Amino acid sequence: MSFANLGLSDKVLSAVEAAGYTTPTPIQEAAIPIVLELKDLIGIAQTGTGKTAAFVLPMLTRLENGRARARMPRTLILEPTRELAAQVEENFVKCGINHKINVALLIGGVSFDDQIKKLDRGVDVLIATPGRLLDLFGRGRLLMSGVEILVIDEADRMLDMGFIPDIEKICKLIPPSRQTLMFSATMPPEIKRLADMFLTNPVRIEVAKPASTAETVSQYLVAAGREAQDKRDVLRRMLRSAEDLKNGIIFCNRKRDVQVLYRSLEKHGFSVGALHGDMDQRARMAMLDGFRANKLTLLVASDVAARGLDIPDVSHVYNYDVPVHSEDYVHRIGRTGRAGRSGVAVTLVTDLDVKHLAAIEKLTGDDIEWIGPKISDLSEEERRGSGRGESRERGGRGRERDGRRGSSGRGETTAHGEGARKRGGERSEPREKPREPVAPAEGRGRRRPSRPTEDLAPVRAGDRPPARPRVDEIDEAPVGLGDHVPAFLLRPVRSVRGAE
Ligand code: AMP
Repeated sequence: MSFANLGLSDKVLSAVEAAGYTTPTPIQEAAIPIVLELKDLIGIAQTGTGKTAAFVLPMLTRLENGRARARMPRTLILEPTRELAAQVEENFVKCGINHKINVALLIGGVSFDDQIKKLDRGVDVLIATPGRLLDLFGRGRLLMSGVEILVIDEADRMLDMGFIPDIEKICKLIPPSRQTLMFSATMPPEIKRLADMFLTNPVRIEVAKPASTAETVSQYLVAAGREAQDKRDVLRRMLRSAEDLKNGIIFCNRKRDVQVLYRSLEKHGFSVGALHGDMDQRARMAMLDGFRANKLTLLVASDVAARGLDIPDVSHVYNYDVPVHSEDYVHRIGRTGRAGRSGVAVTLVTDLDVKHLAAIEKLTGDDIEWIGPKISDLSEEERRGSGRGESRERGGRGRERDGRRGSSGRGETTAHGEGARKRGGERSEPREKPREPVAPAEGRGRRRPSRPTEDLAPVRAGDRPPARPRVDEIDEAPVGLGDHVPAFLLRPVRSVRGAE
């Protein structure tokens, strides 16, 4: 199947070619003709499947006829976060190079004035977060009566963020004759109810099961003590010993912890940024741009801030906290192993997380491998987080965990420590610790990323290791999906007309 067979206009087809897309992804192949037939659509798809272009391309084709009027947007796309809204805007810019269309972004954290001016000039595509949209509507700055297409993107995330009442209000403000497209990674009952209320005979398309983790991601668990200091120690050691770390996202459950961990990593010499909902828009964009441009190696983030970020080729995801909602685990680790590349996801587990971990393994059907001892193997002292960690070890006592971990115990202060300490930086010394063989990913001829080492050796005061991979070690970002198409993109699409 090629883009040319989907009913898109010539202008769109030439932009698609310029964007480097050669073959439509399954969601695009299924959704584009339906959108062009003016039918309502429920698309069950995660980010990374090409779902944005699945609505952007047919919308551009449709917008070629007609003109925008002042304060009356012709199409409206609702996004849960400012970052996602900005990404959709970028998609319109990339795929709309041959179009003269006005795109406006209505997001919180930026001045009203510019947004109002844009609305006054007439907008073809309005991309908005629900709160800001209702705010401007309440001030009489826009009319919804001209909206022909409404897109509700990331509906399940809207639910998590408490936006459903706002979405309902917005749906009621737009004439029912509109076309409605809804995208969601999962279909909880509340979203199903929303679809029943506001979509008319939608066609349902599903790509990749929501609970599935990409086969390209190698997942690992590491036991850590409950105390934040111990968790940070363990994380630092994982970061320093990670062989293939090019760039990574570190997820925390709480915004507060994002900030604390970010400061701590920065203090320890890591190249790191932070992303959480309390940061102002400029700071968030600056962090994100720095990370995208490989100026920052690590990004500490909360789920909401990172959801759906289109950052190609993140090599590692670290779960500093086990996510409370198991679906968040799938979304988090979906940040790596994208576009057919292999990725590593490491989750720190304390004894308080055992229940959530079990839920994750049940949801994903994955039996995740432990690096080092399981949490159940730790002593009570270790579970608490006392008696471990580099700061305490610096005080003198090397950790003697006897037998269980053999020569790679965390308390070791031998030459292994030296090797590990340099690994995040210059890598000048030959390694003294035998490595596990690196197995190629089955059937794909791709190199599987190295298993994170257990070599969590202590670092002595004054020996601050820089953990910045050299810029010239970092891969170029791929165009589109690069040369590989991830396995989950190739799964067959289920399309049931008139369902839901
Ligand atoms: P999305 O799921 O919309 O976040 O898209 C994920 C990534 O896939 C983005 O980097 C897109 O630019 C890219 N992409 C979307 N459609 C295609 C396609 N047909 N071929 C190659 N790359 C694509």
